[in-house]
Amino acid sequence: MKKRSNAIILVIACVLGILFLIQVYNLRAMFATTAAKTPPNMNIDMETESSPLERKCSDAVDKLVDLNINFLAIDFDQTMIDIHTGGRWKETVGELMQHLRPVFLQLVPIATQRNIRIAIVTFSPQTNHIREVLEHAFPTIAEIIPIRGNDQTWTYEGNGMKLGKQEHMASAAEELMTKPALGVTDIRKNTTLLIDDDPRNIKKSLKDGTRAVWFNPRDPDRLLHDILRLK
Ligand SMILES: [Mg+2]
Repeated sequence: MKKRSNAIILVIACVLGILFLIQVYNLRAMFATTAAKTPPNMNIDMETESSPLERKCSDAVDKLVDLNINFLAIDFDQTMIDIHTGGRWKETVGELMQHLRPVFLQLVPIATQRNIRIAIVTFSPQTNHIREVLEHAFPTIAEIIPIRGNDQTWTYEGNGMKLGKQEHMASAAEELMTKPALGVTDIRKNTTLLIDDDPRNIKKSLKDGTRAVWFNPRDPDRLLHDILRLK
């Protein structure tokens, strides 16, 4: 009789033990599922959240698209970068890159995504340095950004004005239009926007009927505001 009771107790203990193990297993699985779900969701939120500067650049690009601007010509010294190299940069390209202004690091890729073409128009002859800076800063789009500098590698044969940055822009636009695969086949003066810190270039550009905004090197954030005010 006693042996039988012991056997029953043993069976009950085994059943309880098995139930306990099943419960522990379920709890572990539940925690594992929760843990696995949380980090990816957090990562997705972090990746998709845009910075205030990115949002402002996006708004400015919306405005450019509304105005049918399909070509941004950007000066280099004191505009895209925050110093003037005088065309005689002797330090490394890495050090030059540290002078890139955040606004252009955001604006150039966003404008390119919206099918606005970009060119660098500069009086600097150090276009090889500028090319390297672009390749590091914009690795996926640098090759479709022409550079026109005073490096004697190009001439503008057209009839347009050659003063200021006008021939630089005209030559870059010619190059872009020979590549219809880029999707921009009709660049005109009123679809072009020059961004330059030198008011003399801005005046010549406007006089020639090309759109232009003066870039204030002491107030770089003003650029996006000024683009939004274009009519
Ligand atoms: Mg300049």
